[in-house]
Amino acid sequence: MENKMYGEFGGQYVSESLMNTLKELEAAYREAVADPKFWEEFDFYMKEYVGRENPLYFAGKLSEKYGTKIYLKREDLNHTGAHKINNAIGQILLAKRMGKTKVIAETGAGQHGVATATGAALFDMECKVYMGAEDIERQKLNVLRMEMLGAKVVPVTSGSNTLKDATNEAIRTWAKEAEDTFYVLGSAVGPHPYPEIVKTFQSIISKEAKRQCMEKEGRLPDAVVACCGGGSNSIGMFAEFLEEPSVKLYGVEAAGLGIESGQHASAFALGRPGVLHGMRSYLLQDEDGNVQLAYSISAGLDYPGIGPEHAYLHDSGRVTYDSVTDEEAMEALLELCRLEGIIPAIESAHALAYLPTICKNMTEEQILIVCLSGRGDKDINTIANYIESRGGIRG
Ligand SMILES: *Cc1c(COP(=O)(O)O)cnc(C)c1O
Repeated sequence: MENKMYGEFGGQYVSESLMNTLKELEAAYREAVADPKFWEEFDFYMKEYVGRENPLYFAGKLSEKYGTKIYLKREDLNHTGAHKINNAIGQILLAKRMGKTKVIAETGAGQHGVATATGAALFDMECKVYMGAEDIERQKLNVLRMEMLGAKVVPVTSGSNTLKDATNEAIRTWAKEAEDTFYVLGSAVGPHPYPEIVKTFQSIISKEAKRQCMEKEGRLPDAVVACCGGGSNSIGMFAEFLEEPSVKLYGVEAAGLGIESGQHASAFALGRPGVLHGMRSYLLQDEDGNVQLAYSISAGLDYPGIGPEHAYLHDSGRVTYDSVTDEEAMEALLELCRLEGIIPAIESAHALAYLPTICKNMTEEQILIVCLSGRGDKDINTIANYIESRGGIRG
C-alpha cells in the first residue's frame, strides 16, 4: 500500500507530531519483514510459546447438521486463548528490534491488553495498558490478569470511558513518549501502517489453514467465514484467499439487539465513512458525524469502526459482510458446545451463527472454514446470565 490508502479508506489522520513516528515505524517494519532472521524468531515463538500450528479441525456433527464439510481453524487453542497473541508477539518483536524498552496498548474487553502484557513479560518490556474506566469495572478478571503479568492498567475517564476513548488516549501518549515506547495496536485499524502490520502477523491463520486444507482435502475451501470487530482475525483468515476468486469470503459483524434497535456494532449496516483513530473507514456515527457507541453482548466486537481494508473489500464486493444478533450468536455458541464439545468465545460464535445462511447454498461435497478466533472461558459470566434469561440450558 505505497499510497497509504485502500481505495478511499485508510490513510494517516494524525497530528503533525505523529507523522515522523509513523514514518519511523514503517521503515523499521519494512526492514524487519525483509529479514529472514525476523521471521525465524517470529516462527519460533509462534511454535514454542503460542503453540502453533493449531489444528484445522473437521467438525463432523456440525457438518452433518448443515449439510456441508465444515472445518474449524482453532485459534482458541493458542496460548492466552485467542488469535490476538499472534499480533502482540509480532509487534513486540518489532519493538525490540527498534530498541524500544516500553510498550503501551489500548484494550476494551481486556483481551488485547492481556496478550500485550503477556508478550511484555516474555520480552522484559515495561507495559502500560489504557482501558476505559467503565471497561475496567466490567472486566475485572482481565484487569487482574494484566496486573499479574506485570502491566500497569491506566484508567481512561474521557468520553464514554470505553475502548474508543482508551484508543485515543494510547495514541496521545504515544505521540509524547515515542522515543522509548512502542504502541502495540490490537486490531487491523488505526493509521497506516498499522492495518498492514496487523494483517501481516495475523495472516499466519490463513497460511496454515490453506496448507492444512490442501493436505486434508487436496483443494481450496469453497468458503471462509470470520467474525469482525476491528477486523484482525478476519483479515488474517482472508489474507491468503483474497487472490483466489473461487473462495467466497464472509465477514460477520455484531447486530447486538438488532440493527433497527440502534443497539449494535455493525459499522457497515448503517455506517458511513468517516475518520476515527487515524484512519478513514466505515464507522457508527450520527447525522452530524459524531462517532456513536457500539453495543454487542460480545465485548470484543464492541468497536464503532472497522479496519480500512475491510471497507475497501466491502465496496469492491470481494467480501460479503453481514451481521447476526446477540441471541443468534449465543444460540450458536451453545450449539457448538453440545455438538463438538468446544466452548467458543462469544465473538467467534458470531461466525458460527452465520452457518445457516452460508450453508443453504452449499453442497455436501463443498468445504467451509470457520475461524474460531477464541475460547469462551473468559465469557462464562455473560453466558451464565444469558442461559438464565432463556430459562435454562435446554429452555
Ligand atoms: C478481540 C477479539 C475479536 C475481535 O477482534 P478482531 O480484531 O475483529 O479480530 C474476535 N474474537 C476474539 C476471540 C477476540 O478476542
